[in-house]
This record gives sequence, C-alpha cells and structure tokens, in this order.
Amino acid sequence: MSTYAEFYRRSIDDRDAFWAEQARLIDWKQAPRTICDDSKPPFTRWFAGGTTNLCHNAVDRHLATRPDQPALIYVSSETGAERTYSFRQLHAEVQRAAAALRSLGVQKGDRVLIYMPMIAEAAFAMLACARIGAIHSVVFGGFASVSLASRIEDATPKVIVSADAGSRGGKVVAYKPLLDEAIRLSSHKPQSVLMVDRGLAPMESVAGRDHDWAALTEKHSSVSVDCEWLDSTDISYILYTSGTTGKPKGVQRDVGGYAVALAASMKHIFLGEPGETYFSTSDIGWVVGHSYIVYGPLLAGMATIMYEGLPIRPDAGVWWSLVEKYKVTSMFSAPTAVRVLKKQDPAFLKKYDLSSLKALFLAGEPLDEPTAQWISDGLGRPIIDNYWQTESGWPILALANGVEMKTSKFGSPGLPMYGYDIKLVHESTGKELTAPGEKGVVVIEGPTPPGFMQTVWGDDQRYVDTYWHTVPGRTVYSTFDWGIKDKDGYFFILGRTDDVINVAGHRLGTREIEESISSHPNVAEVAVVGVADSLKGQVAMAFVVPRDTAGLTDTAARLKLEGDIMKVVDEQLGAVARPSRVHFVNLLPKTRSGKLLRRAIQAVAEGRDAGDLTTIEDPTALQQIRDLMAP
Ligand code: ATP
Ligand code: MG
Repeated sequence: MSTYAEFYRRSIDDRDAFWAEQARLIDWKQAPRTICDDSKPPFTRWFAGGTTNLCHNAVDRHLATRPDQPALIYVSSETGAERTYSFRQLHAEVQRAAAALRSLGVQKGDRVLIYMPMIAEAAFAMLACARIGAIHSVVFGGFASVSLASRIEDATPKVIVSADAGSRGGKVVAYKPLLDEAIRLSSHKPQSVLMVDRGLAPMESVAGRDHDWAALTEKHSSVSVDCEWLDSTDISYILYTSGTTGKPKGVQRDVGGYAVALAASMKHIFLGEPGETYFSTSDIGWVVGHSYIVYGPLLAGMATIMYEGLPIRPDAGVWWSLVEKYKVTSMFSAPTAVRVLKKQDPAFLKKYDLSSLKALFLAGEPLDEPTAQWISDGLGRPIIDNYWQTESGWPILALANGVEMKTSKFGSPGLPMYGYDIKLVHESTGKELTAPGEKGVVVIEGPTPPGFMQTVWGDDQRYVDTYWHTVPGRTVYSTFDWGIKDKDGYFFILGRTDDVINVAGHRLGTREIEESISSHPNVAEVAVVGVADSLKGQVAMAFVVPRDTAGLTDTAARLKLEGDIMKVVDEQLGAVARPSRVHFVNLLPKTRSGKLLRRAIQAVAEGRDAGDLTTIEDPTALQQIRDLMAP
C-alpha cells in the first residue's frame, strides 16, 4: 500500500492516470475519451466523451448484487415514521417518480425544483431527476417565500416538487402557502407542481397546475423508465451556497466527474464499504446532503439514513440510538450540532453501543479545539474535521484514512485531499507562502478536480469574476478563507478573508479570538466581529452564549464573566486582541445551515443595514444584538 503522500503526489503529477483509475469505481455506458480537458481555463471538463448516469450508479447497479439490502432508511422523530427501503424498493420508487415527472413533460435538461422536508420522497425525486437527465435544484425546506422565489426565478423550473408541510421540534410548518406565495412573487411560473401529502397541513390546490404525488406515481407504477445515458459533462444539478457572506451563488455541477469524485471519496475519505450504513445529519438542501445523504453512500452500495428532526428530541441521545440500531459505520455532522449537544447532559454520549462507528466526520464551520475534544472524549471514536464548500462538492482538506491512517490534530481539518493543488498566497501580492505558520488565503490551482463546480448557473462570467484571481504568473481559485499550514502539512482554517480585523495596525483573525474565548468553561458559543472605532480603526466585539445563564441575571455577575473572558484572551493572545466588549445573548444569528452570520452581526454592531438576510435561521437573534446596541 502506498503512503498518502505518494497517493497525493500522483493525483497532481500524474493526474490523468490517477483519475482514470478512480473512474473505474463507477459504471460507464461509454468510456471517457479524455480524462481532463482543461483547454479553456478556468473551465474544466472531466471524462469528456464518457456517458454514464448517477441514478444508475446509485441504484440500478446494485440490483444484481444487493437487491434486498437496505438502501434508504427514513427516520422521522417528528412524526414517528420509520421505514427502510431496499435497493429493489428504492429502484421501484424512483422509477415511479421518474415516470410521474415524465408525464408532466419533464425532459433532459429541464429543471425540477425540489422544496421538501427530509422525507424519502425528496430522495426519490432527486434520483428520478438524475435518472431522466433533468437538472434538480433542491431548495432547503426551511426557507420562506422570498428566498424560494429568488431561486425559482434563477433556476426557471418546469416542475416544482414539494410537500404539504415539514415539522420541526414538533411544530408543523406548512410549505404549500409559502410555495404558492413564492410562485406568485416570481416572474417565472412552473408548468406543474407535484405535492406530497403527508396529512400534516391542509392544502389548497390550483386546478390544472397542482398534482398529487401519490396519485400520479400510482398511475405510472407499471411504467418502466430506463436511465438516460448522459454525457459526463452534462449538468446534474444546481445548488445555491449558504449565503453566509452575501447573495447565494448558484453552483452548477456535472454528472460524470461528480460520480467519480463521490465514489472515490467514499472509499478514501469516508471509509464506506458496500453493505455498511452511513448517517449524515445534514439536510438535502445543502451540499453535504446531496453528496453524503443521497449520492455518495448509495454510489458506494451503502445504506443511508435520512433523518427528519432535531438532535435533542425526544432527547439528546436520539442520533446515538440510531447509530446503535442501524450499526452506523460512518457518521457526518456539523460543529454547530455538536455545540447544541454540548449544552446537554454528556451521559447521552455513553448510553448507546457505538462500536460500529469508524469515525465521526464534521464539516461546515471551524471546529474549535475544545468542541472537538469534548465530542472525542464523549464518543471515544475518531473525529475527522473536513473542510470544503458547496463549490467543491467533496472535501478539500481532510484525512484520507482509507489510503493511510493518520491521526487528527484538533483544530485542523487535515491535509489537502488528492486532486486539489492547494496553495496559501499573500492576500495582496498573491505571492505563494510556503513557510510553516505563514498565514495566507487558501487557493486552488486549476484545473479543479472532478466533482468541482462547472460554473455559476447561467453566468460563466460571474464564475470567472467571483472566484478566479490573478496572482503573479497565473490565475487561481480563491476559497475566500484564511489558512496556515504547520510543519507536517496540516492546514488550519482561520476564518473568512473578510473576517480579519485591524486593531491599531495589528491584523487579527476573528476565529483566533473566538477560539480563545471558547476555552472559558462557561462559554457555549461565541461570535467575534470587528467594529469601527475612531481611535483604533477597529476593535473586536464578542457576543457570547453562556452555558449557564442562571447566574447572569444581575449586572455584577455579567461584568464579572465579561472580565474573566477578557482575561482569558489577554493571557492567550495578548491585550491587543482583547474584545472591547463581551455581550451576552441566548442565541447567535446563523444561516439556516448553521453558520454564523458574522457580516450581519458586524453590520448591526456598526449601526448599518444587515444586508441580505434571506438565509437567516431566527431573526430574533439579530434583534437581541440590535437591542444591545441601542443607546
Ligand atoms: P456563501 O458562499 O454564500 O457566503 P458559505 O460560504 O457559508 O456561503 P458553504 O459553501 O455552505 O457556503 O460553506 C463553505 C464555507 O464554510 C467555507 O468556505 C468555509 O468558510 C466554511 N467551512 C466549511 N467547512 C469548514 C471547516 N471544516 N473548517 C472551517 N471552515 C469551514
Ligand atoms: Mg462560500
């Protein structure tokens, strides 16, 4: 067996041979003619000339070898529903859904917008689109009309698939009125709307436009729909970024490159073997849900758990009970979810048999060391932080423990993954930084690897202008994240490039200050932003969610904790990094995907307009900060 270093080098130095080998992990109808066509940078076309199909590889391919093995395990702690679909049953459901979409006139290249809660039909709909070559655009079910309308407008779907309602924390959220309103707001109108009726909320039907999922799929239950053989470079889907730093971007992805990238990642990074069970706690509305709830595990012949509900209902042991029950081998979650669990009784982590679990993968946000340590101690299983973006489709930084076992360094998402030529460059000169500990912008040298976005949907120029920047001698893809590399080549992500603050000429990363503050035992969560200051240029301001709020009712106790936190920063980073104020709140403004909305906090702290808030989770979080800032 080769070392990871050799494996990685080959992926860069002998790129085509490396990826030709990975391409054998999936079925092709027609073998690729070229492996990597980078004749029109920064656009890269992978496996051109090859024809394949994501649904064939995720479902049909397994019918011969594992027809009765579990494929999709749907669990809802909201409604109590729990059902396992074998590959054979999944195949039948997807075929019926594909026939239903066809009957509504959906053809190859048409867009189908999927606005659904975490129910099995959402996965059927995605796979059905992949089957017939329709381009799906999944919109997170937690979004309201305005956010949904802008995505309808941008993706111009022929059909929208939705459901009567989702449920969150026991509260039914009716989708249909939001959908109807979004269609009203959008200048583009879908021809048809296909509604799953869960019996959770009443629905008003629009005659001639709206159809019932159960009735229409039943009507086509005997129709067989073959997989459409698609060009590798055809479009599989459009998915919007989280909108943490501004207006979401429509990421467009291919078919063949994505299939190969996911199949390879299941083997090399996620340790997934056919017949095992994968559990990603994300939502199909995000890239993790696309890659590691639906496509990745199924491509690998694994069962995948689709979970509707909170991590703490009926209690904080619910996820671990599923790990025990379904013998989950790989689990994927987000630091924000771990922080939710951290506020609960840690005994829940020990209550179930987790011996099947090879690792817990965490991504989406910086995983601070104390949180990593806490979950690692609690579970006694390896914790693997991995760093990537909607744009990349699969991890950029991680550990490829399927190639060579390495241990995590808490606070670091690990090493550059094979296929990614990662560099750190100086933010203004663009000069490459190679010395350990030098802080720079994380960039990717083209050609981008398989699975990476093809372009911004409908706007090649926006892709080039947004992401590709000229540094001396060439053009590179910017991640807009700060990083450093240690002497062993492990990367540390220091936050977004726009999260750096300048205090009296000292440049400080908000992430470093947050990391320091979160080491105080009474800090559950923290956000640090830079606020304009007439004297120092900028000062750091911290917003802390304390673990124990009980003792903070009186001003003296708050001032004491504020002082203690400042002292921690003084000791760890120096007085220059000390926040000018530490404010206490009971929740922080986040996107629906659980990312801190620092730009909104900063804007409010500076008395400015908060900007695009279409992806905010709970507006009251920002209101608390507004109230704190009020004179
Ligand atoms: P937008 O691009 O619309 O502003 P977003 O960047 O939050 O939103 P995503 O694609 O969901 O949209 O998130 C990718 C970003 O999340 C990365 O660029 C990085 O800032 C952060 N991130 C993801 N994983 C990690 C990780 N393991 N450690 C640190 N940061 C991470
Ligand atoms: Mg981004």
